[in-house]
Amino acid sequence: MLFKTHLIFAFLIGLLTFQYIQLQPQLYIAIIIFAAMIPDIDITTSKLGKHVKIVGYLFTHRGFFHSLLALFLFSYLLSLVIPVIYIVPFFIGYLSHLVLDTLNHQGIMFLYPIPVRIKGFMKTGGLAEIILLILMTIITLFAVII
Ligand SMILES: [Zn+2]
Repeated sequence: MLFKTHLIFAFLIGLLTFQYIQLQPQLYIAIIIFAAMIPDIDITTSKLGKHVKIVGYLFTHRGFFHSLLALFLFSYLLSLVIPVIYIVPFFIGYLSHLVLDTLNHQGIMFLYPIPVRIKGFMKTGGLAEIILLILMTIITLFAVII
């Protein structure tokens, strides 16, 4: 899925859930968006991956970083150094990326290293993704206005 699709999906989830968490809304949403960018660090040309290309060389795209193992491991490691309240948006943002990538025809292995791939029908940047992106943008605009 495209970066902007992950971005708008993460932003929308942040808008719909910030009221349930005792964090400043801007910070809460910023953490969700940042966390939603992390799984694609395994691509050397992604927004984060281009700054740490070694990750993209060491890990297969849609492998470890696109798994529940990575989500829980990183959440646990973060909980050792920052208050748990900040882990909530991290978890939600990271999970939003994984969920959205399951719509892609390449799919992801949620249970990596177990090679069971969950996949959808959308091609990255294809018509279905563009329609999804437009719909999510419209919903986000309504959520901002309300
Ligand atoms: Zn991804």
